[in-house]
Formats: sequence, C-alpha cells, structure tokens
Amino acid sequence: MNKKIPFNWPHMTGKELFYIAEAHFNGRLAGDGPFTKRCHEWLEKHTGCDIALLTHSCTAALDMAALLLEIQPGDEIIMPSYTFVSTANAFVLRGGIPVFVDIREDTLNLDERLLESVITPRTRAIVPVHYAGVACEMDTIMEIAKRHHLRVVEDAAQGVMASYKGKALGSIGDIGAYSFHETKNVISGEGGALLVNDPSLALRAEIIREKGTDRSRFFRGEVDKYTWQEMGSSFLPGELIAAFLWAQLEEADRITKERFGSWQKYHELLEPLEAKGILRRPIVPCECQHNAHMYYILLAPEIDRQKVLDEFKRNNIWSVFQYVPLHSSPAGMRYGRTHGNLEVTNRQSGRLVRLPLYIGLSVEQQNRVVDVLRDIVN
Ligand SMILES: *Cc1c(COP(=O)(O)O)cnc(C)c1O
Repeated sequence: MNKKIPFNWPHMTGKELFYIAEAHFNGRLAGDGPFTKRCHEWLEKHTGCDIALLTHSCTAALDMAALLLEIQPGDEIIMPSYTFVSTANAFVLRGGIPVFVDIREDTLNLDERLLESVITPRTRAIVPVHYAGVACEMDTIMEIAKRHHLRVVEDAAQGVMASYKGKALGSIGDIGAYSFHETKNVISGEGGALLVNDPSLALRAEIIREKGTDRSRFFRGEVDKYTWQEMGSSFLPGELIAAFLWAQLEEADRITKERFGSWQKYHELLEPLEAKGILRRPIVPCECQHNAHMYYILLAPEIDRQKVLDEFKRNNIWSVFQYVPLHSSPAGMRYGRTHGNLEVTNRQSGRLVRLPLYIGLSVEQQNRVVDVLRDIVN
C-alpha cells in the first residue's frame, strides 16, 4: 500500500513554541498584549487597512462585521451560495436575509454582472468571497456598491497574501475578514482578523470586540474609565494564540512561495488532461495575484466525481469536494433567498475536486495524485 497522502498538513515554522514560551514568561496572557500588537502592525503594514484586529476566527470577524454595519431584521445581504456557512450565518444571527446570487464560470466567484438586478430597497451590503484566494472583480463591485450606497464586506478567509490590482484582499471593501484556521495558509489553529478600511468604523470595531466597552481607549489613556458603550461581545484571542500566529506571519512570504511551487507543479502536470477535455484547471484573471491556497479541478460532466473520490481514497490519497451550495442546505432554504436558478453554482459545485496541497508535499506525491487521476479517467 502506498503511503498516505493527506489532504492538508498544518505547517509549523519552528518558532511557535518559542514565542508561546516568551508570552508565558512575560506573564501577560489576556488579549491585546505585545504579540497581538505585533500581529496588528504586521497586518496593517502588509494590507494597508486602517486598523486590523485579531479575532477568534474569520467567523467571529464576520459576526463583528454584521454588528458594525448594524444589520437589522429584514435587511438583505447579497452573497454567493457557493461559500462557507459563516458568510451567511453572521448576517442571519442579526436577522438579515442572505440573498444568494450565481457565480462566474471562470473564478467561481460572485458574478458581478448580476448584482444590479438583485439590489432592492432592503439591500444593505454585498459580501464578495475570494474563492481559492483569487479575487472577485472588485472595481465593478465597489462601483455598484457606491452608486447604491451599499456596504462591502470581503470574506477574504482564503485570501491572506493575495491581491487584486496590487491591493491586498480584505483591504478593498469597507471591512475585510481573514482566517487563520489550520486549513488555511497562515495559521494559528483557530484564528482570524477583522480589517477595517473605513476609518469611521474603527472606534466602534474596537468597542464591539471588547464586550461593547471602550476598554481599548482606556488602555491608551484616552479616557479615564471604561464603560459599556454599545452591543458587543468578546472577540479577541489570548496572547498564546497571537504568539503562535506571529511565528507564522513572520514567515508568510516563504509559506506563500512554497505553496506556489506545488500549485504550479499541479498546473503543469494537469495540462495534458485539460487538453483532452477531461478536466478544467483553475483560471486566474491577470489582475489577480493569488496565494496558492488551494488547487482544484473541475471534472468533465461525463466523469463520475464520487468514483474519482473513491478511487483516490483506495489509493490512500485524501481529496475533498466543497461546498454544498448554501441555497440547497436546510438552513439556507430557511433563512435565505435565491436569485435566479444558480445554474453555474449547481453545475460547478458538483464537478469540483480539491487536490492535496500543503508544505512538504513532494513532487513524487503530486505525480502519484495525477497518475491515479489519469488511470481513473482513461
Ligand atoms: C475558512 C472559511 C471561513 C471560516 O473561517 P474560520 O476562521 O474557520 O471561522 C469563512 N469563509 C470562507 C470562505 C472560508 O474559506
């Protein structure tokens, strides 16, 4: 039996425990200590956002975004159905209605050409999701949002170190959300960040994150006591998580570069299969610099995806598909609304397979993945 090729393998840079020991030694374990500050500065410098705030997860950052925008029951939020549940959940928790639109054939991102026809007087925000770290068509989305006075929240969970026309993902809309979940590129186990790009939202973001209090201002000496200012919760991680994350952010360039090597290798190895019409490889528009977050293939309609997944498993290769589109899920049907027939979403989501991609995946292993795929389809 061939050795197992896992789907993902969390990459450690080697300094995580050292920084955690330092935080332990400092005896400063609650949130917003020295390591959190370093992470905030790094994120602000590398993305150009107004302020960055670490959170427990990207899910928590999206929850914060819905609170920041004061989403009210009945407000409509436009988003793709082809996304992770957190994109919708954050707004549903505030009584908002996700309005699911179809995706583009090429990038599998929200189809900006459909936006105008979906906007109603109840629409409050658009949530572009940058699938696989490949940017949505942000210029068009921002222009439409501006014209209709809508807010834009970028779900950039997969977009750390990726950009659109030179701008970091998450720094283009009013608000952006990053994930540092173990399955992403830069990790802290569970973790995330809120990027605030509209300075008028910055102070309230700090308050919402600190249980609705102005404690951050108190610690900066801007007020002489802190009190309950508005609705909020505890969204900040402790210093041990920030210490771990710091070891990863320091190496973010190398992590991205190494993942690129494997991404590019798959892209070369799979070209002949694409030429034969067996699958389609990812398409990256030239204005998008992606981050090699994932390598997916779209199988030709006549190929049985379950058979491919089973055959991978039989060969000890762990691949997965995603997502079950939200409009077809029990909660999506209960809380959301669907615009049109979502033809592209339904078709592409049923054909997609994600291949193993992580730092340490060898070229031999990649060859084995492609060999198995070639045997199945031939
Ligand atoms: C991973 C992911 C999330 C959730 O991130 P967490 O940090 O696990 O909460 C949200 N949206 C998308 C598109 C994701 O890929």
